[in-house]
Amino acid sequence: MRREMFVPKGGPDGGDGGRGGSVWLVADGSLNEFSHLMHRPHLRAAHGAHGRGRDCFGASAEDLEVLVPVGTIVRDDQGHQLADLVEVGQRFEAAKGGRGGLGNLNFVSATNQAPTECTPGEPGEERELDLELQLIADCGLVGLPNAGKSTFLAQATSADPRIADYPFTTLSPHLGVAALEGDRQLVLADIPGLIEGAAEGAGLGHDFLRHVARTRVLIHVVDLDPPGADAAEAHRTILGELKAFDAELATRPRILFLNKADLIPEDLRTDMVEELRSALGAEMETTVVLGSSATGEGVRDVLNACWPLLERQPDRGWSVKPE
Ligand code: GDP
Ligand code: MG
Repeated sequence: MRREMFVPKGGPDGGDGGRGGSVWLVADGSLNEFSHLMHRPHLRAAHGAHGRGRDCFGASAEDLEVLVPVGTIVRDDQGHQLADLVEVGQRFEAAKGGRGGLGNLNFVSATNQAPTECTPGEPGEERELDLELQLIADCGLVGLPNAGKSTFLAQATSADPRIADYPFTTLSPHLGVAALEGDRQLVLADIPGLIEGAAEGAGLGHDFLRHVARTRVLIHVVDLDPPGADAAEAHRTILGELKAFDAELATRPRILFLNKADLIPEDLRTDMVEELRSALGAEMETTVVLGSSATGEGVRDVLNACWPLLERQPDRGWSVKPE
């Protein structure tokens, strides 16, 4: 009620409360994992401000925008898919803020000129959501740990993945954009190798394969060094994993990149490729490039070979739109 000197019976003047903030998930092109959310599993937007006297409305709270990587699939706790954020800037309202309460000014009527009624603010929505990342890229790099996938990505793009001589460097996938002649661009994904993930335990073992699910062409990197190493076995391991995960994946177009050729004497190279071909038979990719992620030899050839394969791919409902 308004109470002021010289204004007797000032009447009702309680303003409405502000709307509570909503929580939004917003797809961001620069993220490739959820580590920024790991330690804050509860995300809460602010309360709306209280309504005040003199018919002052409380301010509505700002929405909370939570950035997630492009390719994030949102599910409820029953496992139903609610959203698939496949484009940069795409938003999903994860929880709606409550409406503000109504001040007593709203309850003035012909018979009640001085209502003391008001309604409390509505509580905000609360939801538990599962977020899963399935990266979206044109080409996915697959291969055993240490094969040279991260080096390939760094050589082909301006991305800066962690590279090291031990098999545990890439635990989250990296994306990079490779520029081809004629303004063409390819988005490449460096996917953690299977043993790298398995070492982390907790179901990460084959987890990397779901990132391959939304790449349209695979670049299979096999390490030729040392010359006695069983490249055919490495090849079969990866192909076996792809098949076990999803038979369709194994039929996706693949290019074989035989890496670390810089460490193989020239006169051994052709023999090694032929040996591999006879060991693998029909399992061997039709496009085979011999080269080196480290020196860049053959890297352009792989990228150029990817392009026509991409163009022939059917639309799968998601595609890459680099920023
Ligand atoms: P990833 O586990 O498949 O990502 O492999 P990395 O790209 O991290 O490479 C593993 C190791 O092999 C690193 O020490 C690289 O420097 C090295 N390496 C990668 N490609 C080549 C190459 O073409 N030639 C040589 N000599 N070394 C390479
Ligand atoms: Mg790596």
